Amino acid sequence: MIDAVLKKIFGTKHERDVKRAMPVVAQITALEPAMQALDDAALRGKTDELGKRLADGAAIDDVLPEAFAVCREAARRTLGMRHFDVQLIGGMVLHQGKIAEMATGEGKTLVATLPAYLNALTGKGVHIVTVNDYLAKRDAQWMGPLYHALGLSVGVIQHEASFTYDPAYATADIRMTSLRPIDRRAAYHCDITYGTNNEFGFDYLRDNMRFSLDELVQRHLHYAIVDEVDSILIDEARTPLIISGPAEESTELYYKIDRIIPRLKRAATIVEGKLSEIEEQREGDYIVDEKSKAVSLTEQGIASCERLLNVDNLYDPQHITMLHHVQQALRAHALYKRDVDYVVKDGEVIIVDEFTGRMMPGRRWSDGLHQAVEAKENVRIERENQTLATITFQNYFRMYDKLAGMTGTAETEAEEFAKIYKLDVTVIPTNRPLLRVNASDVVYKTEREKFDAVAKDIIARNEKGQPVLVGTVSIEKSEAVSKLLKKRGVKHEVLNAKYHEREAEIVAQAGRAGAVTIATNMAGRGTDILLGGNPEFLSKEILRKRGLDPATASAEERATAVAEARRITQPEHERVVSLGGLHIVGTERHESRRVDNQLRGRSGRQGDPGSSHFYLSLEDDLLRIFGSQRIQRIMERLGMEEGEPIEHKLVTRAIATAQKRVENHNFEIRKHLLEYDDVMNKQREIIYGMRRQILDGESQADTIEEWIEDLAGDTLDGYASEAAHIEDWDLGALTEALHRQFDVKLAPAQFEEVVSREGLATLVGEAVKERYAERERELGQDLMRALERHEMLLVIDTQWKDHLLSIDHLKEGIGLRGYGQRDPLTEYKKEAFDLFQDMVERVKGAVVERLFKVQVVRDAPMDLPAVTAWVDARETRGELPTQPGAAPMAAPPRPAPRPAAAPRTPTGEKLGRNDPCYCGSGKKYKKCHLLQGA
Ligand code: ADP
Ligand code: MG
Repeated sequence: MIDAVLKKIFGTKHERDVKRAMPVVAQITALEPAMQALDDAALRGKTDELGKRLADGAAIDDVLPEAFAVCREAARRTLGMRHFDVQLIGGMVLHQGKIAEMATGEGKTLVATLPAYLNALTGKGVHIVTVNDYLAKRDAQWMGPLYHALGLSVGVIQHEASFTYDPAYATADIRMTSLRPIDRRAAYHCDITYGTNNEFGFDYLRDNMRFSLDELVQRHLHYAIVDEVDSILIDEARTPLIISGPAEESTELYYKIDRIIPRLKRAATIVEGKLSEIEEQREGDYIVDEKSKAVSLTEQGIASCERLLNVDNLYDPQHITMLHHVQQALRAHALYKRDVDYVVKDGEVIIVDEFTGRMMPGRRWSDGLHQAVEAKENVRIERENQTLATITFQNYFRMYDKLAGMTGTAETEAEEFAKIYKLDVTVIPTNRPLLRVNASDVVYKTEREKFDAVAKDIIARNEKGQPVLVGTVSIEKSEAVSKLLKKRGVKHEVLNAKYHEREAEIVAQAGRAGAVTIATNMAGRGTDILLGGNPEFLSKEILRKRGLDPATASAEERATAVAEARRITQPEHERVVSLGGLHIVGTERHESRRVDNQLRGRSGRQGDPGSSHFYLSLEDDLLRIFGSQRIQRIMERLGMEEGEPIEHKLVTRAIATAQKRVENHNFEIRKHLLEYDDVMNKQREIIYGMRRQILDGESQADTIEEWIEDLAGDTLDGYASEAAHIEDWDLGALTEALHRQFDVKLAPAQFEEVVSREGLATLVGEAVKERYAERERELGQDLMRALERHEMLLVIDTQWKDHLLSIDHLKEGIGLRGYGQRDPLTEYKKEAFDLFQDMVERVKGAVVERLFKVQVVRDAPMDLPAVTAWVDARETRGELPTQPGAAPMAAPPRPAPRPAAAPRTPTGEKLGRNDPCYCGSGKKYKKCHLLQGA
């Protein structure tokens, strides 16, 4: 009842959409005579004319009728196909950023050319997304002449190559006809680019791992038309794209370094208020600062390490990581205690939460510390493949300014498209009335009985010569059916979506008389099944029989073969039509109604006759798991005899209900995945956004200035907090920290004048600022700006990679924790946020520290990617021999936790320098409290 009402509402909604498009269709059709009157050059000239109108500010919708008319005319001339009216409507729906549901065989490939042409007129590029490489190539070659005639360039992205459509390009291999190899970037700079969802997504991720602008292949993501949109945005949405690589360097290094730690001697321990110790004792290898959880090597310590590790200079760039490892190993030994800070369980180091005392499986210390603790405890160091970049299709495709899709089956998933992608579905009527007859489902008690019936049906049709397409839910089931038919001597083909190109050839002939084809859902998708056979494909077989390679045969040989094929397929077409067209046998109901509709839709295309029949058994997974009780009851009510199938619309409805339940369940799973990915997505946006700014060459001076101020403030807080009394200030440790981090040396005399916290802040702030200004005078502004960008990029990448590793572990671990009533997703969000904030702090610290210390090789090239142009030299630290060196990639120790009250975004943005000061003075922050260092 409600169903019927809903259907009516939906029905009218689609009808309304279609009705609204009709006047535009009339407009386009009215332009036809004028278009036909143009010669090829004039038609081609329309592209520039329309493009110019858009550039001059015309609304794209105002240009639509003419652009569609141009495209339709070009298709007629070049492809011999004139867009049907319903295809124009489909094109409009796609242009509006919606999903056009158009049945199989309605010509969606051609439909896409309309919005693609129109939107490409903006010059921003259009992506047409296919489910596999073969279809991307096929569609570009197929539609290429149309675009070419209109002066648009076409790119094709394949897994390991990329091309542009160029009819003048000569190649011996017919499969590559008109595809001239070009580089990937050029393919993305074509007006229209065909490629798969995987390639587009991976190229996006790869682009965000590059070091310079001219290495980026993609442009801004403008408009995507996704073919078989349900398959890509729903079925594949559960498996995100991941680029991974081996985690870290060799794990051996951790063990090797761990072994030398017991041979180093502690020189001093800085504990609160005991600054004298560091002044007194310089004998020993390292100093431990318990408060900031930092360990630094003394001059002597460096010499010891060099000796023990057998390297001549730890500050040589090539050994810089080693130095970092040594510092982390020292921290692991000196500051992290077993059964206090962590426990070792089942060969794993598990962190203990310092506040709650709870074990936190999955959480890892960053920056190599966790590995150092693992080495210390002599357990296995995790060195799995780690994520370097990852994204879900949901989040990739949501980045396009405009997204559209087309498929034969979208309506059942309309809710998901709307909720996740904000995509509306409009059902486009077929060009010709649909004649396919769908029989009601039959249900058998056992699978054996079911397959008997399936075989009987196939054999009966096959004997008459009617083609049959058998659909299965898995490769395994396909093989079972194949065995069954083999036993009964029925000739057949089996497809399982492994070899797209070859399977396309087979499925193209699934409509020939007497053909029996067994296929899984995805096999041969996108290939048209013509009744009586496909002459194009058949001609290849003919050539092969003559001993010719269709890939290299001459045009003439090919034309003869096609003509010959037609002489076979034409009469055969008549015969198959008279037998009832293609018959579809479903051997099971799929979990999703959409997939069943997809199978059914292979028959009855473009007004062809056809039929479909699904065979089920109570032993099928769907019925067993999701619907058996209810169906069993219906069966009993209807009185099912042994060996007798049941065929009733009540059963069909009960099954649909079961399917809906499973669909919902699967939607929940995808939503859940997305909720997890959304956390990462925000972080990814921030990091990739920052990278992009840097690559774009934007000056980072303001950011750096803020970071320096922040860090100087933090350092100050750590040793002379605002709450502390003057006599509790730890000026010695402060001096030490300022030097370590900012290369600033304050003399004790300078503190004598200071009587207030503000005074101290000013002294510190100015000393740090002055030191940086001095660096800038040494290097020059340009170089300093380039250095800033370079260091940021380097540190961001390192830390982001490290962060992704932490997130990987967090995801794995979060499920293992006992949370009681708490929602793991909430916990995950919270921890992922904390981890990110920590990472941002590490980035800031490491970048600033490097900027104060890194030494520049004067004559080396200054380009960003030339990492070798920058060298961490020993001289920096050489000036002050008593100071422990700092590792460049290491996060500098955080002096003290920042006050919880200070609200910040994850990027650490807070009050801007030009914002009004928080104190309410009305002055700009930089002129007010910032000056006072607060
Ligand atoms: P879909 O992707 O919708 O299943 P295809 O794009 O594979 O359909 O096209 C199916 C068939 O319809 C192709 O053989 C194509 O040549 C044909 N076709 C599509 N549009 C037209 C048209 N306007 N005129 C003639 N044939 C068309
Ligand atoms: Mg298609």
